[in-house]
Amino acid sequence: MARQTGPVCRKCRREGVKLFIKGTRCDTPKCAFERRETPPGMNNFRRGKQTDYGLHLREKQKVKNYYGVLERQFRKYYSMAERTKGNTGQVLMSLLERRLDNVVCRLGFGRSRAEARLIVSHGHVMVNDRLVDVPSYLTQPGDVIQVKDRPKSIQLVKANLEEPCREVPDFLSLLDDPRPAGQVLRLPETSDVSIPVQTQLIVELCSK
Ligand code: SF4
Repeated sequence: MARQTGPVCRKCRREGVKLFIKGTRCDTPKCAFERRETPPGMNNFRRGKQTDYGLHLREKQKVKNYYGVLERQFRKYYSMAERTKGNTGQVLMSLLERRLDNVVCRLGFGRSRAEARLIVSHGHVMVNDRLVDVPSYLTQPGDVIQVKDRPKSIQLVKANLEEPCREVPDFLSLLDDPRPAGQVLRLPETSDVSIPVQTQLIVELCSK
């Protein structure tokens, strides 16, 4: 499974927004973006005005870095969004939000998307009582995401739920069950994304 590697806090500084890649650390004074909001690199003073292309590219990179998807995966989501009825930008964001690793993270089962991805790929999560270990699995409204009935899995997720990083979004709901569980209530919308995204810029770039 391909994944993004390398220093992550640089990505927030590059995009000029907190992408919450490191989980709990992002809400502490240790957050690199809180301490230094300037873009990474030594020669910032040499940088000129951002081009129109640069503006579009940065918006796409911001979304890719936020969800931790690579260019090829991102293009796949874009072509799926293009083929779907409706506003392409909004459908694209909805598809990305529906990824199982994102849903697990936003329910608070994992403190970051990277941790949520490991929780899924190591087989700790079930969808509608069936084991799903594919982080890119697209959840549907009505799906119940529950931790596997195994002490190790329950302990791991419960520890994360005790210190929730962020609020559960409106399109998801935590269920009252001794075994941590949540449900997808509806299809996510762009307003459910926790960072500001100008989908129009992404569509303009990818449709060329
Ligand atoms: Fe971004 Fe989190 Fe690093 Fe802060 S701590 S710069 S929000 S990844």
